[in-house]
Amino acid sequence: MEDCIFCRIGKREIESMVVYEDREVIAFRDINPQAPVHILVIPKKHVAGVNDLGTEDQTLAGRLILVAQKVARQEGIARNGYRLVINSGEDAGQAVHHLHLHLLGGRKMKWPPG
Ligand code: AMP
Repeated sequence: MEDCIFCRIGKREIESMVVYEDREVIAFRDINPQAPVHILVIPKKHVAGVNDLGTEDQTLAGRLILVAQKVARQEGIARNGYRLVINSGEDAGQAVHHLHLHLLGGRKMKWPPG
């Protein structure tokens, strides 16, 4: 997906504040943070969203959560708590159509979310 902004971040064609990277996954700071810690964890492979995950993506989908866990520890928010969010589709407000998991922390969260 040549015009996908998150594919381009994954390929390091667009600059971002990367906090974690391996062969399959990259995590970087959100450009418009909604909490003191706001990091996006994405697969490097293009998957448009949760609806587009296949059974072959089972391991990859799980790895996004494990990377979020690692980054939460790295950022010092693991003990106090954090929220993992995946917006899926229009009603959820998904703006970027490349699967991404939001890691939010560093402040008290409200429930239910808006
Ligand atoms: P969503 O609404 O779940 O699709 O979230 C998309 C997120 O991507 C938003 O929180 C944006 O602030 C963030 N975002 C968009 N472009 C960039 C970028 N170039 N670098 C970092 N974060 C971005």
